[in-house]
Amino acid sequence: MELLLEKFSLGVGDRFAHQARAQLEACSKAASLGVTVVPVWNKSNREHNIVGSEPASVREAADEAVRQLGWQFPYHVDADHINLDTVDRFLDSSDFFTIDVASAIGQRSERAAAFVKRHPELVGTLSVPGVPDPLTTTVESVERTTAKYLFAVEEASRIFRHICQRRNGRPFITEISMDETDAPQTPVELLVVLAAIGDHGIPIQTIAPKFTGRFNKGVDYVGDVEFFEKEFADDLAVIACAIQHYNLPANLKLSVHSGSDKFSIYGAMRRALQQFGAGVHLKTAGTTWLEELIGLAEAGGHGLRLAQEIYGKAYACRAALCEPYAAVIDIREDRLPLPHEVCQWTAEQYTSALRHDQSNPAFNPDFRQLLHVGFKIAAHLGDRYVNMLVACRDSISRNVTYNLFERHIRPLFLGA
Ligand SMILES: [Zn+2]
Repeated sequence: MELLLEKFSLGVGDRFAHQARAQLEACSKAASLGVTVVPVWNKSNREHNIVGSEPASVREAADEAVRQLGWQFPYHVDADHINLDTVDRFLDSSDFFTIDVASAIGQRSERAAAFVKRHPELVGTLSVPGVPDPLTTTVESVERTTAKYLFAVEEASRIFRHICQRRNGRPFITEISMDETDAPQTPVELLVVLAAIGDHGIPIQTIAPKFTGRFNKGVDYVGDVEFFEKEFADDLAVIACAIQHYNLPANLKLSVHSGSDKFSIYGAMRRALQQFGAGVHLKTAGTTWLEELIGLAEAGGHGLRLAQEIYGKAYACRAALCEPYAAVIDIREDRLPLPHEVCQWTAEQYTSALRHDQSNPAFNPDFRQLLHVGFKIAAHLGDRYVNMLVACRDSISRNVTYNLFERHIRPLFLGA
């Protein structure tokens, strides 16, 4: 039996498992306006390890939020960026698996030559309906692409079979991600990859390529928006074409691992999605944790002091905190406020610096990015942090819901 992912879905991260309800409120608001955006709670193995949590806690928080709000639509729990080494602890509690094969890209497959032989249609001038300039390839270019990606698809197939076998008939949704790598995949490369995925019979419903431009954590897109729009539209055309030719699920769609807050491309994405009548999965990162800090600061008193303390500790450990995220952050050290200054800040100053409002001159993207990767500090505070989340629940949930709904769901799924 298959589990089908709906046309529009939103990946939400909840590092400390206290905001599922506030996140679901944002989807409820969209539903009340007539647009179903299905929530998918995602948390990677790395995040579980840093926070010290187990995958089952994500499922419990999601189930509880759904019960409390009476959510009538589907929802899912995503084992985000798993591989053969890390998937097992997610097998019971997840029904969505993001198979990450980025590290297998570039490894040699024995079967590359046979693949190219089997797919003469990939060579020459390709007619992909919806792509304005025809895509052209040569035998050599298809061989190069195959050499680069076929092994990664074979690895995805091994992981997929492993999940099938261990799930023993319990249905799940499959995504393949290739976003955490150096070079973006072009639309032509995506077509070759999809042909290979079809050959291997992996019924992916979402695929996460790497797009051109920088998708830094928690801040806006950096790159050429016009070029992105063309690339994104071409990817949609390629996917529609691959569904026709390569034995892939009819609801296959792009998954955009956005790192959250890519406000400047939401308009471009929306236009392209409408043009193709396509769906999308928007995977946001853990910016909900930043809304927790905003809510703590807004609450004033002990909440504000804890938010200040967390910044001070994050500043002191900044090198170690940033290291695992080096590829997806861009922090200018000279723009980071000093901890003793932040300790003097009012709630208003703290939230203005942190909240992602680019029209506010006090917004500080460097401050924001450092705190984004600083959730380990809060994890180390243990109960002190969690108890404060409970104490400041009203101001936090207000910010969590507002952020998801007004800044993400509305511009992408509802339109301005
Ligand atoms: Zn990703």
